Amino acid sequence: MKTENERKCPLAKKCGGCQLQNMTYEEQLSFKQVKVIRLLGNFHHVDEIIGMEKPYNYRNKVQAAFGRTRGGKIISGVYQSTSHKIVCVDECMIEDKKADEIIVYIRKILPQFKLDVYNEDTRRGFLRHILVKRGFASNEIMVVLVAGTSVFPSKKNFIDNLLKKFPEITTVILNVNNFKTSLVLGKEEKVLYGKGYIEDTLCGCKFRISAKSFYQINPVQTEILYNKAIEFAELSGKEKVIDAYCGIGTIGIVAAKNGAKEVIGVELNSDAVADAKINARINDIENIKFYNADAGKFMVDMAENNQRADVVFMDPPRAGSDKNFLSSVVKLSPKKIVYISCNPETQKRDLFYLVKNGYKVKKIQPVDMFPHTNHVETVVLMSRVKD
Ligand code: SAH
Repeated sequence: MKTENERKCPLAKKCGGCQLQNMTYEEQLSFKQVKVIRLLGNFHHVDEIIGMEKPYNYRNKVQAAFGRTRGGKIISGVYQSTSHKIVCVDECMIEDKKADEIIVYIRKILPQFKLDVYNEDTRRGFLRHILVKRGFASNEIMVVLVAGTSVFPSKKNFIDNLLKKFPEITTVILNVNNFKTSLVLGKEEKVLYGKGYIEDTLCGCKFRISAKSFYQINPVQTEILYNKAIEFAELSGKEKVIDAYCGIGTIGIVAAKNGAKEVIGVELNSDAVADAKINARINDIENIKFYNADAGKFMVDMAENNQRADVVFMDPPRAGSDKNFLSSVVKLSPKKIVYISCNPETQKRDLFYLVKNGYKVKKIQPVDMFPHTNHVETVVLMSRVKD
């Protein structure tokens, strides 16, 4: 009999998403530990990776593409990692179960409402993708219907039907995307039901999540990751803190509540910044300010204006940070840098720059945010060599 940590997925070969399928969970953890040691081990000792107790159905955000088979059958699921073909998914062991149920149900009722799926070649048809986000703590659910057109004939009946089947859905949004693009969401958005956003709780703080803004996809491990980052920063009530690449303000807000004197958050996505400002308000946090800007440019401005910072949290996307950002951090000269990364390769490059310019790596903690995939998240503490 397979143990709990050895579940297998029947679509593994076709989908390609869970690259570490063939390993037990313990083997996956040691694979990731070795990877981080290989890339970052020269900087410092690497602490043991923090794995998940139940490494299944952890994704709070599920996306499915809609299309037809050659025979004309409607399918929904993920794009094969090596092609643009849709692999039909009913259940996925890393996705939220309720989200999967909602997607399969919508697939089944489309013909009943005479709704067609979108055709990328003719750019006609209706449903292109579905995006579901669920707050694991709040149990609020957002369903985003991504369609090729804003014309939605049987809208009211369709939504009534969906809500009757899933009363736990708290908001439904129509997003229009008729462009030839690999991006899932288009610009135009219309709230069809509810508030147009969901809320969730992380580390004792409430967060508003909209359709477009980034929110960590594994909330169980995110709490562990953020707690580590805050622990590394050792905030004493006196520090001026920067939360760079702040998304909807999560790390900065948790820091503001846990010992930072003052926090500045900077983020490129304007929807995320709008959410971040609201998040500060709903948590009654007044010692935080958010700016909508490129983090690199923002830091250059700060450095040129001779501003200072005591702690910099940075959590860039997979591509890592840029020279503008890193050289300005060096100029601002914070005592501590806490670098969270989902890509140890670019993190290695950036750490190398900081080490060459007056910083020392003090701690390396990998966290398994994405079980069964080959991704690994690492939080690194650096401190300024000269006082
Ligand atoms: N710290 C946040 C988000 C991390 S994801 C959290 O834990 O939830 C990385 C974020 O960087 C995304 O929100 C993305 O929009 C933002 N981003 C990407 N490039 C950026 C840039 N050049 N300047 C500022 N933010 C950027």
